[in-house]
Amino acid sequence: MESPELQLKQMKRDDIIDQLIVEEVRRQSEGLEMIPSENHTSQNVLDALGSRLTDKYSEGYPGMRYYGGCEVVDKVENIARDRAKKLFGCDHANVQPYSGSPGNMAAYYALVDPGDTVMGLHLFFGGHMTHGLKVNFSGTYYRSVQYKTGQDGYLDYDAIQQMATEEKPRLLVAGATAYPRIYDWKRLREIADSVGAWFLADTSHITGLIVGGEHPSPIGIADVVMTTTHKTLRGPRGAILLCNGNPSTPLKKVERTKENLPTLLDRAIIPGLQGGPHNHQTAAIAVALREASQPEFKIYARQIVKNAKKLAEKLLKKDYNLVTGGTDNHLLLIDLTNKGVIGAEAETALGKAGITVNKNAVPFDPRSPFSPSGIRLGTPALTTRGMKEREMEQIAEWIDQAISNHSNDKKLAQIKAEVKELSSKFPLPSNQKNG
Ligand SMILES: *Cc1c(COP(=O)(O)O)cnc(C)c1O
Repeated sequence: MESPELQLKQMKRDDIIDQLIVEEVRRQSEGLEMIPSENHTSQNVLDALGSRLTDKYSEGYPGMRYYGGCEVVDKVENIARDRAKKLFGCDHANVQPYSGSPGNMAAYYALVDPGDTVMGLHLFFGGHMTHGLKVNFSGTYYRSVQYKTGQDGYLDYDAIQQMATEEKPRLLVAGATAYPRIYDWKRLREIADSVGAWFLADTSHITGLIVGGEHPSPIGIADVVMTTTHKTLRGPRGAILLCNGNPSTPLKKVERTKENLPTLLDRAIIPGLQGGPHNHQTAAIAVALREASQPEFKIYARQIVKNAKKLAEKLLKKDYNLVTGGTDNHLLLIDLTNKGVIGAEAETALGKAGITVNKNAVPFDPRSPFSPSGIRLGTPALTTRGMKEREMEQIAEWIDQAISNHSNDKKLAQIKAEVKELSSKFPLPSNQKNG
């Protein structure tokens, strides 16, 4: 009999999927990934993610599992939790949410009851679906009211206060997917306090900038912070819930107090919403958290912002209409109305030129959300590849050329060749095995 290991090795590989992985890696390395929620993880993160830890069931938490054989994954999860607590500076971290949307669902489950009023930024103004969109769980199981930005694209804190006073939400959610500016966490806390609401900060997009010291942290201000781990933080897909409070609550029903937040969040994840944690993902999160705590990560975070500001500066000179007039973080939101193209046309043209962006609604967009007026683009992935201001100047040039020549396929193919040439000088971080 052959050993089980050998049998596994001899199994015919799945050529179809293997080939598609190769194709996707080629697409990523030959082009420019400018979707601001994307990044390129390190080889160490990929190795943890592709490990045998995925085989293990471990419902529960370290030391309190419903399965045997958890002694190793207990250590992995404890390391991930400890690194998160240290990096973010808080009492408690839950690293089990499968992704950002389940992470937000768990925060809602912990803090409010069905039918309660929740208040978040509207999707069309940069909020996430899970912040109260009517067709999402957050707008279906809860009474959601949604705030907008001002005409200038900035959060209008006076208007948020006014809506809170009128609607009396039990939960205020802040955070966005397409907001290029810094948040006033303290002001949002005051607004939540003025109506006795919980305050959930969803920092998914900007967490790498927070831990890199480029953006103020809501830790200690918001009651709960939810972040995805795969955006500027540069980890695997996943999410973390963070809070202060006393994690060692006895096994009985707990009141909804700040002190009990760790227990409330843990119980919202399991038994509330999830089963077994994804241990391979937990390990990869632990690896990413270690990377994010290194001095080099601060340099990385700073460069993300510098690159975005350089892109903004160049595009403004070419008469692009940037929402809020620029950026403080990793992304740009561009209203293309004055350029005579819609978001989808620009997305397609840039795609043909090897530059991946996404169409996006702009504040008070007169067009439908399925065919909005703008595009959203960002610098986290390019910065991971080592690109700096010099490359941003060139990229701004290409973006302008592609948008100006959006129906000229020959020109777009020519840009694509130039993009490929530049890209080849900035390989993906994982080019040994996967590139
Ligand atoms: C990306 C994101 C999420 C959701 O994350 P998924 O992992 O895609 O479910 C939630 N909130 C914000 C603000 C995000 O940017």
